[in-house]
Formats: sequence, C-alpha cells, structure tokens
Amino acid sequence: MCPFAGYPFFVMDFSVVRHDLDCAARSAVLSTVHGTVDTPAFMPVGTLGTVKGIAPDELRGLGFELMLSNAYHLYLRPGHHAIREQGGLHQFTGWNGSILTDSGGFQLISLAALRTITDEGIVFQSHLDGSTHHLTPELCMEIQMALGADIMMALDECPTPSCSKEQARAAVARTTQWAKRCVLASRGRHQALFGIVQGALDVDLRRQSARELVEVGFDGYAIGGLSLGESKPALFAMVEASVDELPCSHPRYLMGVGLPEDLVEGVMRGMDLFDCVMPSRHGRTGCLFTNRGRIVIKQAQYAKDESPIDEQCGCDVCRKYSRAYLRHLFVSNEMLGVRFNTIHNLWYYRTLMAEMRSAIQGGEFLAFRRRFYQQRRDCVRSRAYVRLMEDGHRCRPVDVSQGKDC
Ligand SMILES: [Zn+2]
Repeated sequence: MCPFAGYPFFVMDFSVVRHDLDCAARSAVLSTVHGTVDTPAFMPVGTLGTVKGIAPDELRGLGFELMLSNAYHLYLRPGHHAIREQGGLHQFTGWNGSILTDSGGFQLISLAALRTITDEGIVFQSHLDGSTHHLTPELCMEIQMALGADIMMALDECPTPSCSKEQARAAVARTTQWAKRCVLASRGRHQALFGIVQGALDVDLRRQSARELVEVGFDGYAIGGLSLGESKPALFAMVEASVDELPCSHPRYLMGVGLPEDLVEGVMRGMDLFDCVMPSRHGRTGCLFTNRGRIVIKQAQYAKDESPIDEQCGCDVCRKYSRAYLRHLFVSNEMLGVRFNTIHNLWYYRTLMAEMRSAIQGGEFLAFRRRFYQQRRDCVRSRAYVRLMEDGHRCRPVDVSQGKDC
C-alpha cells in the first residue's frame, strides 16, 4: 500500500535509496496511489490490458507491482470511453497494482498505416479496420486520463533510427512542442506524466531533447525511439547522452529495451524502469531465459532432459516440471506450455531485477555485472550481443564467429 494514498494531491513519489559508488546505478522506491515499486524495475507489457495468458493475480504473485498498457491499442479497441464507463483500466482488468500507459507515438510508427504527422498531431489509419483518426497531444492525454493510468506518457514523434538529421531535428522540436501541450492538458490529480526524449542516433539531439523536456518539467523522463535495429553501442551512447541531462531526483525509463543484457547495461547507466514484450513473447515461441543464456525448448536435445529450465530458478515451473515435459507441451501446441514458459520468463526477469537492486544496495553492482556475464561466457547468443569492457561503462560489438550457441 502506498504510504501517500490518503493524500488528496499526491501524484507520485520517487526516493533514491542508494547510489552505487562505482557507476550510475541506483536503487529507489517509486510510489503511486496504487502502490510502491522498488526500482530498478521491469514492467511486464499488457498491451491490451493483459499480459497474454497471465491473470492479474498471477502477475502480482510473480512479484510485479507495475504493468504497462498501451493507450493506442486501448483507444482503438475497446475505446477509452468504454473503459472509463467500466471504472477505468484498474477496475476493468482487475489489476490493482500501478499502471503506466504508453502514449502511442511508437505504435503509430510501427503499426498504423498512412500516417501524416503535422504540428497539430498525427493522422493515421487504424491497423484494425482502416478507420481514420487524428491523435493530438490533448487527445492522447484524454485517453490516458480516461484509462486512469498512474503514469501517463506525453505524445512524442518517434522517428526511425535511419532518418536524416533534419528529420530527427524536426521530431525533437515537435516532441518538445507536444510535451508542452501535454503538460497543459488536464489530467487526474493522482496521475503522473513523463516526457519522452527523442533524437534518433544523434548525441547532440538527444542532449537537446532531454534539456528541453527538463525545462518543460515532468514527473519522470523516458528515453524512447531505441531498440529499433540500431547497434548496441549506438543505443547505449544515446542512453548516456540523455542521462547526462536528466535530473537525478526523477525516475528514468528506458522504453522497449529488454534483453537481460540490456537491463544490466541500462541499470549501470542509471536507468530505473524498463519494459519489453520479450519475456512474454519469447515464452510463446518457446525461447526461455536462463542464467546461462537462452534455450529453445522445442529442440530435440531436450526430449529426454529431466532437469528444470534453469537449475538456479525458483519459479513454480522450474520446481515442478522438466525440460522434457515443457518440450512435449510446446511441440504439442498445448496452451499450458505457453503459460509455463511465460511464467518462467517473467520470473527470470523479476529475479534479475531483484538481484540488481540487491547488488546496488550492497555496493557491488559491477561485481554482479561481472558474474552475470561470466555465467554466459559459453553462450554466443548473449556474448554476440555486446562485449562489455569489464570495468568500463561503454560497450562495443563482439565477434560472433566463434563459440557455442545455446
Ligand atoms: Zn523457472
């Protein structure tokens, strides 16, 4: 229960508990009227108000306090007015933890057809039925207000990483203008609002975008427009440039970036919140996260494997079921297999974040990071992703030509 829940004008509280002395990692407590969240934290993605296959009580049981939903999708179906009439997203879905809603800027780039972006807003055709809509910053706030999100995201223009410098510059300017309009729009008295840093893959534009948003003033700051196919060094260079300009006193959210390695690298660079569809989407395709890297459960090598997915995992699935059984469920297209895979993956993410928080509080985050990678040394999938300098804050590409996949 949030200690501030009875305060009529409470919006959100963010208190840093501990800074790591050797890097930018920090642990903190974020409070909304729906509860407290220990950070760094991972938000499972319930795009349509549900993390696929997982009931709200199960999600709480897995240790999650904050879920992400998507304003764009819920606006199109069932519609924000319909959800408001049902008492808001918490009431509608039965999820009593905190909810952050994404504004839709990213989805409009990735899903909607025939977009036209002007200073006024974004005209687009629904990916569901082709109907035409005009999303303005004001409508974006109206949607998220109707949903009753604890944390709302300002509307941003999310350019592709391959855009020209001029396009990136225009997107930053528009994102700042829209951010100002979002701040001026009305919202519920308990609803926090985060701005989203843009700037494509340009360090100077990232810094400029962050500075402009801080000047506008938000309850927290997100870094958006990443994990769109750019290299890992480019991604984390953008994170570092943005973080340099953001206040230590406010939460920082790295949007849509979510392999385990990304989370470790993001935390080390001072990020507090993460979201990604990866644990649930990979669960549905039988790709399972372990402390030694990922395994693909459908592979024949697991047909007679009596061991759990991960010997170190404490989830219900690993305590009770073998890889052989999970493989059988997966290749037989049993629903239970998808659920078990998703539960394990979410537990892995939750545990990874808890371990990182504990390492920060113990003043040994960099030692934790070394152990994290040492366990993955024989696994090309992870190793190929980034090679990390053992004691540095930067990452660089790795040669993927050698080593054993896992
Ligand atoms: Zn497990």
